[in-house]
Amino acid sequence: MPELPEVETIKNELLPHIVGRRVTGVTLFWAGIVRQPSVEEFYSRLIGQGLTGLARRGKYLIFSLTSGEVLIIHLKMTGSLLLKPASAEADKFVRAILHLDKETELHFRDPRKFGVIWLVEDADSVVGKLGPEPLEAGFTPQLLAQRLTKRTAPIKALLCDQTFIAGIGNMYADEALFAAGIHPLREGGSLSAEEVKRLHRAIQQVLWSAIGNKGASVENYFRPDGTLGTAHFQFQVAHRLGGDLCSVCGTPVERIVVRNRGTYFCPKCQVEKT
Ligand SMILES: [Zn+2]
Repeated sequence: MPELPEVETIKNELLPHIVGRRVTGVTLFWAGIVRQPSVEEFYSRLIGQGLTGLARRGKYLIFSLTSGEVLIIHLKMTGSLLLKPASAEADKFVRAILHLDKETELHFRDPRKFGVIWLVEDADSVVGKLGPEPLEAGFTPQLLAQRLTKRTAPIKALLCDQTFIAGIGNMYADEALFAAGIHPLREGGSLSAEEVKRLHRAIQQVLWSAIGNKGASVENYFRPDGTLGTAHFQFQVAHRLGGDLCSVCGTPVERIVVRNRGTYFCPKCQVEKT
């Protein structure tokens, strides 16, 4: 699933091509992708609007429109947004096309059809419950410590909980916990002040590094020009299968399931505190 670094890359790379453009038409190959409003209203409210900005919140992309409304996209498991010249051939996995002026099209490609589009007046109706942004100045070790207080859920589950912290999913939670030397099953509230500091630093470090590498191309993630990111080549534990060895200590990386999510970690570098 695209996580913060992938969605941030898409935002950065789409921005110069779409701001100032006008929506001249919409093609929906699969109407189920529009969560809100009705399809008829979606067409009538979107066509003719100008795109005035593009922002990311958590794993959501938020397009500002001239009317003051916002178009929000969540790519879910396998979605990508591809910039194409007008009248480009759409492959069988393209679920929607936004036709823009200046001979540009935006293809929402989504093999597994979990992606969602909303057109709403207030972004908060979709993203209002998200936790803090991990790369913003307000996300301090103190804030992380405060939010972890008395939490009994495994730290891995908390990092993947979008209301706890926004934008982190399975891959970067595993990477951050490895970088911080913290076992994924530790109760959130059991982390020492020193461990919280290490985790805070690790979260920012793995996310910035992955943004620098334009995201991780696992499971259908593409950049808007159709090329791949390279962040997965830096992964230490995430998606390491079949006896891969920890790059630090040489112990085989292990896989366990934490709240239904496959979780990779080094049993030696990430010792569970008793
Ligand atoms: Zn190790």
